[in-house]
Amino acid sequence: MLDSASKTLFHLIAQSQTLKKLASRYGMRKPSSFARRFIAGETAAEAIEAAAAVEGRAMAVTLDLLGESVTSLDKADAATRDYIAVIDAMVASGVGRNISLKLTQLGLDVDKASAIDNLRKILERAEPAGFFVRIDMENSPYTELTLEIYELLWRHGYRQLGVVLQSALYRSEKDLETINAFGGRVRLVKGAYKEPKAVAYQKKADVDAAYARMLKTLITGGHDPAIATHDPAMIELARTIAREHGVGPDRFEFQMLYGVRRDLQAMLAKAGYRVRVYIPFGREWFPYFMRRLGERPANVAFVIRGILGESG
Ligand SMILES: Cc1cc2nc3c(=O)[nH]c(=O)nc-3n(C[C@H](O)[C@H](O)[C@H](O)COP(=O)(O)OP(=O)(O)OC[C@H]3O[C@@H](n4cnc5c(N)ncnc54)[C@H](O)[C@@H]3O)c2cc1C
Repeated sequence: MLDSASKTLFHLIAQSQTLKKLASRYGMRKPSSFARRFIAGETAAEAIEAAAAVEGRAMAVTLDLLGESVTSLDKADAATRDYIAVIDAMVASGVGRNISLKLTQLGLDVDKASAIDNLRKILERAEPAGFFVRIDMENSPYTELTLEIYELLWRHGYRQLGVVLQSALYRSEKDLETINAFGGRVRLVKGAYKEPKAVAYQKKADVDAAYARMLKTLITGGHDPAIATHDPAMIELARTIAREHGVGPDRFEFQMLYGVRRDLQAMLAKAGYRVRVYIPFGREWFPYFMRRLGERPANVAFVIRGILGESG
């Protein structure tokens, strides 16, 4: 979750074309390149290798083929085909069957019906193979549409399908009740996007307080909840709520991002909790990477050091 200082920094950096060019050129070049801290690589093979390593440490995975905001139906179709190829590669490799995707990658900005159709194509391949598919939540112009599509597909019988709610948005507590009521599956996050005051809490303390309230609703009334955070206070609270309500560690999972708080991931797995690591990969890694930088100013210094080290 961004505080206002790092949000400002993030936006300055995001606008820098120079940094974008440098990052794109150097970020993935070598196994030691800086973007590889958060992104498993540009190919499915690299992501599968990273997934196998995570599984070797007793944690589960979800793979995300990076890409968002596609501007043509051709590109949306290509992304759909790419996802299906990823599913096939995962099946062949034997890694855990779980993927995350974004609706704008499947064409939501171009044509809603086509995006739904593309998602169905992916589900038709994924569900019979035993996959779980999570629809990531994008910024607030897509919230209503994403939830609408999620519920539509759920009602059409796609049950290995989940969605994400962001505690930063005022509406999310109500959305959580709605989804709990029809049996849907929620990943709870704080929210990665800069959102206007009209729709979202601006203070970190308010986002955290909403996250805490939603945690309780999700753990006590949700279905296979996914608690996605690196915040030790929220993790401790989740453990306490679960204990107090007799919800065993097999009935929910913690989720964290590849490369973030690996110490905490390992500690939770060792303590007997289910931990799933979100593994992003693909050529379109820059927007995802920028969101991760914005979350922690220290990450920016790390990248600048990486660029200087590689370009020097
Ligand atoms: C599995 C998963 C899936 C997600 N899916 C979505 C989604 O679909 N839509 C969406 O809007 N957001 C998504 N997010 C991102 C989320 O909304 C937050 O932006 C992100 O998780 C940071 O918030 P936090 O809960 O970790 O807490 P914060 O309060 O931001 O951070 C707590 C602590 O975690 C560590 N930390 C957090 N971020 C970083 C980082 N980038 N680098 C290093 N350390 C860090 C720091 O130690 C920090 O003090 C997802 C997050 C996870 C873990």
